[in-house]
Amino acid sequence: MTANRAESETAVGPPEDDTATHSAESTAPLGSPAIGEPLIEARDIDVYYGDTQALNGITMDIPERQVTALIGPSGCGKSTFLRSINRMNDLIDVARVEGTLRFHGKNVYDDDVDPVALRRKIGMVFQKPNPFPKSIFDNVAYGLRVQGQEDDLEEKVHTALERAAILDEVEDQLDSSGLELSGGQQQRLCIARAIATDPEVILMDEPASALDPVATSKIEDLVEDLAQEYTVVIVTHNMQQAARISDTTAVFLTGGELVEFDETSRIFENPQSQRVEDYITGKFG
Ligand code: ADP
Repeated sequence: MTANRAESETAVGPPEDDTATHSAESTAPLGSPAIGEPLIEARDIDVYYGDTQALNGITMDIPERQVTALIGPSGCGKSTFLRSINRMNDLIDVARVEGTLRFHGKNVYDDDVDPVALRRKIGMVFQKPNPFPKSIFDNVAYGLRVQGQEDDLEEKVHTALERAAILDEVEDQLDSSGLELSGGQQQRLCIARAIATDPEVILMDEPASALDPVATSKIEDLVEDLAQEYTVVIVTHNMQQAARISDTTAVFLTGGELVEFDETSRIFENPQSQRVEDYITGKFG
């Protein structure tokens, strides 16, 4: 066990009194999802948009090669936290991030970290599929070409399409435009594009919310498969989806707070905080 792990257990350890559950006043029920080593360690992350604070002191460890779901009502900061992991908030002029976010033990906000290189390691898939207006092949090859990794390009593109569970559907039409695919196929193409450059982490911001139920189910299956090789962090407003596909779940609530973080089964079956129970059971949100 590493020093970081030991520190993280202090930071997000179980409540001192396990019997003190379901207290409406409970403020430190972050739990301790004990599966997997942490790859990403967030400590006291505050994010401001101008004078408005969107995240308040987020401290959590994201385990390696698991699916971590971020759930909570709209506007509570889930996407903001996701973007703070690969410094996408840097691209928003008014956004300011405070705190420490370590990836492999290194603070990604240190001055010597190149955000573009970081985003190659920590890729992102957005809510609305956004293929480039290029061929299917060129979409997936794009990042590899930008990085000058053109050796075995064809094989790498095929592998990425296969991992994204779309190869069978497109292998005869790799020269067609990515925009001609259905919404669900476009999203899997975007996932292929994200994994072509061999990231370690895939951040997904409601990747299925614009899709029909069949396409959604394919994305859900894919997310579970991807976690065998990648660390996946997924924002979803769909609690059933989080329950189905994630290993750990973080519940963000109003005020940009992380209220509970634990193994998904515990979050849904035995939440420690009354606020989380009320949210899960639909009493608010
Ligand atoms: P969620 O993903 O949980 O719906 P967000 O992270 O999108 O929440 O938003 C959290 C808060 O930050 C909201 O009050 C939202 O209005 C605000 N916010 C998000 N993005 C921006 C932005 N680019 N500029 C200003 N405020 C923003």
